[in-house]
Parts: sequence; C-alpha cells; structure tokens
Amino acid sequence: MLRQVQVERDILAKNDAFAAANRLRFEQDGVLALNLVSSPGSGKTSLLVRTIAALQGSVPLAVIEGDQQTSLDAERIRETGARAEQINTGKGCHLDALRVQQALDELAPAPASLLFIENVGNLVCPAGFDLGEAAKVVILSVTEGEDKPLKYPDMFRAARLMLLNKCDLLPHLRFDVAQVIANARRVNPDIAVLQVSAETGEGMDAWLDWLHGELASAVSRREESVTALKKRVAELETQLLSLRASLAE
Ligand code: MG
Ligand code: ZN
Repeated sequence: MLRQVQVERDILAKNDAFAAANRLRFEQDGVLALNLVSSPGSGKTSLLVRTIAALQGSVPLAVIEGDQQTSLDAERIRETGARAEQINTGKGCHLDALRVQQALDELAPAPASLLFIENVGNLVCPAGFDLGEAAKVVILSVTEGEDKPLKYPDMFRAARLMLLNKCDLLPHLRFDVAQVIANARRVNPDIAVLQVSAETGEGMDAWLDWLHGELASAVSRREESVTALKKRVAELETQLLSLRASLAE
C-alpha cells in the first residue's frame, strides 16, 4: 500500500515537471491552452466543433484530442479545417503532460493562438494531472445529475469555468440549474458558469467573449515578458559597453 502511494507520487512529480515545461512554452508564445474535462458524453467534441465554426478563423487555433482508442474526434475537428492531433491513451484514463508535449512538437501552435486540449472523458484523475494549461474548463451536460460537482469535487475545484451544455434540452428534463450552480460554488466559490448549447448555439456569444478575454490576457502577459527581457538585454549591453571602455583605458 505504502509502496503504491510512493509510485503514484513519483508519477505525479514527473508529470508536474513536464507540465511546467509546457506552461513556460505556452507563456513564451502567448498560447492560451485550455484543458477541457468532463464525463463521457457531455458533448465536448460537438461544442468544440461549434466553437471553431463560430470563431470563423478570427483566431489561429489547434486542438489536441485525447481518447483511449480511435481518432474519430480528431477527424471531426479536422473536418472544420482546424489542425488536430489525436492522442490515444490505450488503457490510460487521462492525458499526461509528456504526451501533450509530444503532440505540441507535431502541432507547433502559432504565437498568440488558442489551443484546446480535449481530455479523456473522466471526472476523476484528469483533475490531478496538470498539462501546463492556463485553465481547466469543465463541461457538464444537463442530462447528468445536479450532484456531480459534489461527487467529483476535485475536478470542479480545479476548474476556472463550468460550461453547462445541452441547455436546449432543459424544457424536457427535471434539472435544477440553480441547484447545480450552487453545488459547483459550494466546492469552488470562484468558478464561472455559462449555459450553452452546442446544438442550437445558445450561449455561444458569452463563451466566445470569455475565450477572447482569456486570449487577450495571455497575449499581454507575453508582451510584458518580452518587454522585461528587452530591458534586461539593454542593461546588459550597457554594462558590456562600460566594461569594454574600462578595458581599453
Ligand atoms: Mg470527444
Ligand atoms: Zn486516469
């Protein structure tokens, strides 16, 4: 038992190191990486397809698709014209930062672009595996239970935003929107919530606004670090000049 705990710790520590490298790469390039997590069947891929269509090429973007088997989801994404890389995890039930790093080498996301990482449908261990993303976005469909945030608190605590999907079905269901939001905020008081439908497009404008806002801050953080680096280079050049002058004396 103790030995198993140690092995799990080692795995997570290694993952965190790869995640830190991914995060640095995203920050340097001004890439907004979002880790999309949910149960199977919440409509993640449909929502992504709809999102890519709505962005109408206004933002450069790429997609990493995680599934245990098949490249069906990556093919659906590629049909939109977007670049997508499939990762098959086999028996694994989550993406890890090393596999994401390998996919990044293939995809080479453009500077100031969006990167959607669709994780394996699973609300448990993807909460513990950092991929280097700027934020986790948890998708919960209204065909699931209002109690999901209470049953899987780690995931809802780790997420910055909850997208309540399939809202077009609400008139046909007994689903209490206020209750699910209250449950999500009980485990994470800061979580943002948007109601959307990949089917009808309801709520897509607010989701696109959120994406544009997050991308703008990723780009400005990159500009700040470029400015800071330029300033440091200028300082070093000045020091070098005075050093040369003193040597010539
Ligand atoms: Mg999918
Ligand atoms: Zn797993």
